[in-house]
Amino acid sequence: MKLGILGGGQLGMMMCQEAKNLKISTFIFTDNEDSPATKFSNEHIIAQYDDFEKLEKFIQACDVITYEFENIPYKTLNHISKEKPVYPEPQINNVIQDRLTEKEFINDLNIPTVPYLPIEESNQLLSVEDNFFPAILKTRRLGYDGKGQTVIDSKAKKFQIEKNDYILEKKIELKTEVSVITVRYQDNSLFSYKPIENIHKDQILHTSTSPASISIELQDKAIKWSQEIIKALNYVGVICIEFFIDRFDNLFVNEIAPRVHNSGHLTIESYNISQFQSHLRAVCNLSPIAPELKTKAEMLNLLGEDIFKYRGQLKIEKNTFFHDYYKQNAKKGRKMGHVTKIIS
Ligand code: ADP
Ligand code: MG
Repeated sequence: MKLGILGGGQLGMMMCQEAKNLKISTFIFTDNEDSPATKFSNEHIIAQYDDFEKLEKFIQACDVITYEFENIPYKTLNHISKEKPVYPEPQINNVIQDRLTEKEFINDLNIPTVPYLPIEESNQLLSVEDNFFPAILKTRRLGYDGKGQTVIDSKAKKFQIEKNDYILEKKIELKTEVSVITVRYQDNSLFSYKPIENIHKDQILHTSTSPASISIELQDKAIKWSQEIIKALNYVGVICIEFFIDRFDNLFVNEIAPRVHNSGHLTIESYNISQFQSHLRAVCNLSPIAPELKTKAEMLNLLGEDIFKYRGQLKIEKNTFFHDYYKQNAKKGRKMGHVTKIIS
């Protein structure tokens, strides 16, 4: 079995590491020279995602194709799916890539998101009701780790937007944030990991703790909504749904990641089966395994120069697991590695 993976980041890297245990051969297609995944894959190609000649080589070599990064052009995924199975299906990615169609899809299932408005030009902002602010202006496409987002405190502050499509989201007072990782297999079997509690710093994930310290009611609701979403999408593979919880314990879906997720890295050490193995088993049609929590765990992201506190260290604290993404350039805010601590 040869699995093709579009994208070469740390998510792809951890898929390749897990694939070795399952005797699945991996082929990475990435547009980036400094790609963690190519250090662990069996084969790779570095080319643009619209280089259809290079893509053809990749398609021919693989049995099934997945992606570790949702901003792969729809045209590319759709083209590939005409020749080989692509999971999750390209049409799903097309809905989720755009924050507006993503939120419309969620609301159509009667699942709440925070209030939002589509925005196409600056003067539209002026007609928004005062009580909608503070709000966050987000680009509809290509945002991640808080990129493409601007907080607008009040309407009085005129804001000049660049030519782009946006949504304006009401900024809510967060009590906490949680995420739920769910996997769906080709035989329709479905499993969710327990909700994970996430703390963001400067809109980038800082720590994740599992299980989340939220009420049973909220845990059940987050899992129920996640499963409704994955079923409605007829999705195969791992999906991650991010949720907001406000100070009145209202639960909202923030966004959907059609892939394995940073908050799920702690499943490597704290579950019988990691999110990466679940994803591989589902897309490669291996027998389903139900995830079971083994221990509590906490993950800390290492951004930029944080990596140097761990890289090259021979002795690491007991019950602590260091994962290096082997990226060259430790730019500020760049995800360079993570550590997971298991709590028994
Ligand atoms: P990204 O695609 O960059 O992950 P998100 O929409 O998830 O974008 O935003 C990143 C983080 O910013 C969230 O996890 C949350 O901490 C904060 N945030 C985003 N939208 C809101 C909002 N409407 N109200 C309050 N905080 C928000
Ligand atoms: Mg997010």
